[in-house]
Amino acid sequence: MACIYIIKHKDSDNVYVGSTTDFQQRKWGHENACYNENSHSYNRKLYQFVRNNGGWKRFDMWKIDCCDEENQFQKEQEYMDKFKPSLNSNRAYGFDREEYMKEYNLRPENKERKSEYDKIYYAIPEVKEKKKIRSQEYNSKPEVKEKKRDRARIDREENKDNYYECPCGSVVKWLNRFKHFTMQKHINYMNSLS
Ligand SMILES: [Zn+2]
Repeated sequence: MACIYIIKHKDSDNVYVGSTTDFQQRKWGHENACYNENSHSYNRKLYQFVRNNGGWKRFDMWKIDCCDEENQFQKEQEYMDKFKPSLNSNRAYGFDREEYMKEYNLRPENKERKSEYDKIYYAIPEVKEKKKIRSQEYNSKPEVKEKKRDRARIDREENKDNYYECPCGSVVKWLNRFKHFTMQKHINYMNSLS
């Protein structure tokens, strides 16, 4: 059995969609990758966002659906298409360039070369510092903040009459979907599956 989960920022609607066959393990794995500079995924968009936005304790992680392991990535992609998560950087299923590059980078010969390079490059204090400053500067620009607010507003406006049909049997307002994942009914249903 595999499950699809989301990670949501408590203070905004930024979400990440993922899937796993071991939820608890994956949860620890995400938390660890946020803070462990030696993790190969330390610089992923999700973890950078977590570090810059209050840390792991400002995020919730819930199971939202379950499926057979063989359908795991199709299912995950379905939810990515549905939620359009802001914190994912790759597709789960189906071809695109990022996916190809992910695979390319996973080939042992490339992986080793890249991680050696990254390790050295990102360990340079000035590079690290510069990167941090660049992302802080970018995020504090009034027009970036404004754009983010606009996007959230338009999203709310467009979806105000839409509903979300949850696999647990509930039908809730689209805008309340994240709140729904914290409800006991939903949690009980997910726990009953795995
Ligand atoms: Zn539900």
